[in-house]
Amino acid sequence: MTNTVPVVVVGGGQAGLAAGYYLRRAGVEFVILDDQSEAGGAWQHGWASLRLFSAARYSSLPGWPMPPQPGEPFPTADHVVSYLRAYEQRYELPIRRPIHVEAVRAAADRIRVETDHGVWSAATVISATGTWWRPYVPHCPGQADFAGRQLHTVSYRKPDEFAGQRVVVVGGGNSAAQILAEVSTVADVIWATERPPRFLPDDVDGRVLFDVATQQLLASRAGQQAAGVAGLGDIVVVPSVLAARERGVLVAEPMFERITEHGIVWADGRTRPADTIIWCTGFRPALSHLAPLGLSRVDGHIATRNTQAADDARIHLLGYGNWTGTASATLVGAGRTAKQLVAELTGRPRRSGTATF
Ligand code: FAD
Repeated sequence: MTNTVPVVVVGGGQAGLAAGYYLRRAGVEFVILDDQSEAGGAWQHGWASLRLFSAARYSSLPGWPMPPQPGEPFPTADHVVSYLRAYEQRYELPIRRPIHVEAVRAAADRIRVETDHGVWSAATVISATGTWWRPYVPHCPGQADFAGRQLHTVSYRKPDEFAGQRVVVVGGGNSAAQILAEVSTVADVIWATERPPRFLPDDVDGRVLFDVATQQLLASRAGQQAAGVAGLGDIVVVPSVLAARERGVLVAEPMFERITEHGIVWADGRTRPADTIIWCTGFRPALSHLAPLGLSRVDGHIATRNTQAADDARIHLLGYGNWTGTASATLVGAGRTAKQLVAELTGRPRRSGTATF
């Protein structure tokens, strides 16, 4: 049986909910298909001590600010999950879960969305599947010979299991800095980064990143380049990172050249034994469901105009990073981008031959 609906949103994390908020407000009929059993998207799966890098009031979806978490200036991931759960209930968003979207295909004048629970036929598909399920580990010679354990940020939970070990943390962003900060309390840790890490000043939190994103947005609307000093990858000096710096462990080494059976080797010949390598090396967009559309790519991404796929105006991509909207991979940025997306969707004539709502 095929379900017919004007808009299918794939993914029920914060980006999917932001899209749902504006679709509902615009009176557009839609469904959100999410493959998790519970609300919260990727925030359900982070490590135990994961926190937002800014206060609740700077981390809100449209319509309803995230309530502060008593006693926690930087809310925990559990608090974010509770907020997202309450958000989807508050706005009665039509979410179906768990439903995994396997393939999105262009079929005549509709889009066919194939899932593990049937088929949906839509005029428009908004893909908001995030990046968590596509962890990225760069290739390094000798990786397969390493006798110790290698894991990515997605599999990291707590420092205890690394007690007494020699650990290498790889990556120059917030995840690496926060994981290094806590693992170094129980293990002997080396931090390897491709480029020297950039730290925000101690007295600002992640909110400054949103301010910079806003400047970038305004500048790009005016056809200019923003003169910001910070980027979304800059490290926020949260209390655990500050403590690590005070203990003298927040010292980055250059990236090593290869991995041996029992450790790492730098280009200058220095070696270091290791029991575990933790790859905090980021994510890629989880977009395999769009593969059947054969959308063209630019700079390694699907080519887009704002959130719209350049090859097919019926497909939108939301929340994957700056290439799908300024700061769209953050709580605040997802809302801004979703607002623009829905305005485009409802305010513009559809391309000829495609269905309208
Ligand atoms: P997700 O939360 O991943 O939601 C996507 C949903 O789609 C998931 O439920 C997923 O299972 C589902 N899905 C995927 N594929 C399919 C499919 N084929 N079919 C059906 N469902 C599918 N942002 C901030 O604003 N502040 C912060 O402090 C902050 N800290 C971060 C810390 C870390 C370690 C990370 C990784 C990110 C952080 N972010 C932060 C960025 C961002 O807020 C999160 O990554 C957020 O989870 C992205 O939301 P999303 O909705 O785009 O994706």
